[in-house]
Amino acid sequence: MPEGPSIVILANEAAKFAGKVVRTVSGNSKQDLQRMQGQRVRAIRSWGKHFLVEFDGFAMRVHFMLFGRYRIDEDKIDRQGRTTAPRVSLVFDNGVLNLYACSVKFVEGDLDDVYDWSGDVMADAWTPRAARRKLEGTKQTASICPYCAVGCGTIVNAKTEGGRTTIVNIEGNPDSPINTGSLCPKGAATFQLAVNPLRTTVVKHRKPGAADWDTETMTRDAAMTRIAQLYADSRDATFVEKDANGKLINQTTGIFALGGATNDNEENYLIAKVNRMMGVVRIENQARI
Ligand code: SF4
Repeated sequence: MPEGPSIVILANEAAKFAGKVVRTVSGNSKQDLQRMQGQRVRAIRSWGKHFLVEFDGFAMRVHFMLFGRYRIDEDKIDRQGRTTAPRVSLVFDNGVLNLYACSVKFVEGDLDDVYDWSGDVMADAWTPRAARRKLEGTKQTASICPYCAVGCGTIVNAKTEGGRTTIVNIEGNPDSPINTGSLCPKGAATFQLAVNPLRTTVVKHRKPGAADWDTETMTRDAAMTRIAQLYADSRDATFVEKDANGKLINQTTGIFALGGATNDNEENYLIAKVNRMMGVVRIENQARI
């Protein structure tokens, strides 16, 4: 599972493909991979957890998620000795880049317009002076990494300008007895969770049978109303007031509430409270401290 520094290692290993032409493209990604066919790689780059293969006018962005893998000049073989099908395979004159079990998206335009390289501590563009300048005029708030139950302490720096508050940096909190300032690669990339040009900002709804997302008609309000309606319908259809012995149980087993790792304590409190109020007994949240 490549993350943070290991993405930089991948970018270094794949650097030999910079300047080379993609001779053959294949893979089981649903993206239009063929647009890379015959294109010359302008650069191989990384930003946080993003591995980037840059072409003229666009770039392939790869996120390795939880189980992503890569191989250079070889195939991935599973435990049964079978060759694994790559999500993307790019064949060059000087080798092959194979990417597995990852999220692939295309970023349009020039990467220098999309990414702030100085915000990535692994980038050459990062400098302590620029980092200090970035923190001027910010307010520091102690927080907790949202990703796992270790609960590492973080410091969040936010700046308010024109009535709008924006997070400008998140780093380990040296005062925390849990992590004493250090963060694992995942926690160190928390800033990208909050501030990310690729973050989804519209409701993506895919109607039954539709092949594409409908991002126009399903507004946020409409989505919330629909979710609430489906939730209420399921609850009403499956609610059981008394068990076979006449004992009051007021529960539904027709709904399973599954939380996410990035839910914070307050969100988990509300998720548990609302679901218990509705009679949901199957509630699973990422453990929080
Ligand atoms: S920094 Fe890493 S170990 Fe610490 S809470 Fe976050 S994900 Fe867990």
